[in-house]
Amino acid sequence: MNGEARKTRNAPKCPRSARYKARTETGYGLRTCFEARIRRDTKPDLVARFGGIPLLRKKDAVLIDRVPVRPPHPRKELIHRLLTRRCELCSDPGKVVIHQVRKLANLGQTGPGQPAWAAKMAQMRRKTLVVCFTDRPRERPPRPASCLLGASIVTGTS
Ligand SMILES: [Zn+2]
Repeated sequence: MNGEARKTRNAPKCPRSARYKARTETGYGLRTCFEARIRRDTKPDLVARFGGIPLLRKKDAVLIDRVPVRPPHPRKELIHRLLTRRCELCSDPGKVVIHQVRKLANLGQTGPGQPAWAAKMAQMRRKTLVVCFTDRPRERPPRPASCLLGASIVTGTS
């Protein structure tokens, strides 16, 4: 016997495959599988099974493609928020401005002392807020002289 034949059809069966070979009951009769079983006295046996599946085609199967579920959160991009032309604090339509803070940490502690605009920004986790002129925050945090962000974006119907 040459080496190739020994590797394929005339090779003796692996003793491990004979050890784990088992038969399992399926809806279509007994099927051969490989099974590792740990017997336990008080609990059901622990069984790991490979195979034992009836490989039959279901001719009457109906394929149902699932429609991907869109994320429940709408887009929060600034341009879309700005184009609504509504104040995010009072929902009034009209002229709006963008209020922006440098960091969310600059909004201060949450609580009764926090302004409504800061609480809204903290709730939205956004550094920008679209507000009307009446709700626009008057106080500005001190900014370093090197800060170049000074202009507000103003839009609205005119
Ligand atoms: Zn407003």
